[in-house]
Amino acid sequence: MTEMHLRDALDNLKSTGVRITPQRHAILEFLIQSMIHPTADDIYRALEGKFPNMSVATVYNNLRVFREAGLVKELTYGDSSSRFDFVTNDHYHIICDDCGKIVDFHYPGLDEVEHLASHVTGFKVNSHRMEIYGTCPTCVTQASKVQ
Ligand SMILES: [Zn+2]
Ligand SMILES: [Zn+2]
Repeated sequence: MTEMHLRDALDNLKSTGVRITPQRHAILEFLIQSMIHPTADDIYRALEGKFPNMSVATVYNNLRVFREAGLVKELTYGDSSSRFDFVTNDHYHIICDDCGKIVDFHYPGLDEVEHLASHVTGFKVNSHRMEIYGTCPTCVTQASKVQ
């Protein structure tokens, strides 16, 4: 699954004329493999051993290239740094209020809501964002231990 996504992503980049450097390859691979919706900093820390000359700024620049190519989605939360998500088919996020962990879950795209919103407001709809908030199993277990 990962390899298929990676190959598609690399083909996609090539077709948009983006050069595939070893760093870009590694960043994409990390994004696809890790299910943690990493920040640029997470990616930097995971790969700095492999690429000692790479900086966080380089990671950011590469993520921007991927975002512009439509491979990566940037999830901003107003507070700290953005998290990055490899774009697959429609999925939604559930987020832990305690530790901030973001987990994917699949649910049919809410096309009807987009159609309704467009119909009611006259907007041309581009996208939507839905997030569920709660407490993850790890944090629930930890909370019950403390008591
Ligand atoms: Zn949690
Ligand atoms: Zn996701």
